[in-house]
Amino acid sequence: MKKLLILFVGLSFILESCNTQNADNQNTQDHLIMSVLWYQKSAEMKAMYYQCFNWAKMRIDMKLDDQIDLPKAVVVDIDETMLDNSPFETNCIRTGIGYTKETWSEWTSKISATALPGALEFSKYAQSKGVEVFYISNRSVDDFDVTLKNLQQVGFAFADSSHLLLKTNTSSKKARRDLVKENYEIILLIGDNLGDFSEIFEDRSTNYGFETVEENKDKFGDLFIMLPNPMYGSWENAVFNNQRGLSDQEKYQLRKENLIGY
Ligand SMILES: [Mg+2]
Repeated sequence: MKKLLILFVGLSFILESCNTQNADNQNTQDHLIMSVLWYQKSAEMKAMYYQCFNWAKMRIDMKLDDQIDLPKAVVVDIDETMLDNSPFETNCIRTGIGYTKETWSEWTSKISATALPGALEFSKYAQSKGVEVFYISNRSVDDFDVTLKNLQQVGFAFADSSHLLLKTNTSSKKARRDLVKENYEIILLIGDNLGDFSEIFEDRSTNYGFETVEENKDKFGDLFIMLPNPMYGSWENAVFNNQRGLSDQEKYQLRKENLIGY
């Protein structure tokens, strides 16, 4: 009887530990489950990417006859624009460990990100129309070789070192866009983050940056093509009150506090 009691207490302790573990996980990376599921398993996601890239091709057609002295170029972001990194997000959920430089490098070094729906065809279409594609990404320059290899492995047009501009010391892409503008006219920008288009969207400290989008609403679908990414992005900065170094628990609370109910 005494042995049974000890066994029961022992089992209760193990079960309690498991529950605590689950509760901890729920407070760290489980918020990603629905967004990653949507990204990977909803036909709507595929349709939306096709819709955006189909429209981007039409925008190229519309601008082909524009008389511009400089050659024409399209600027695209890489992650969640041309390449699908959602398996990395899945790994965050499974391990309970979010983005770190180390975990991200572990993923990028696998060189196994696949093309997003319509992205590969779009790059080739632009090339067929004499429009160059520049890849401006906030992947670190430390990841230059693996990123270039991944783009080449997938078969993207203009996947070479002169068309790939990664992050050196600033997340702002303005300087890299300006570099492209020295020799090209940028006729279209495609991304999943507003900062992929213009520096005016970088500051989200006032009302989530909504007003800046309102003031520039005519540019969407015209110069800017916005792709969906519910998994992460600069929009999170506003949710976290632009604070850095928050704990997972603090982030969890702020996500809940920012929800609009009724
Ligand atoms: Mg991106």
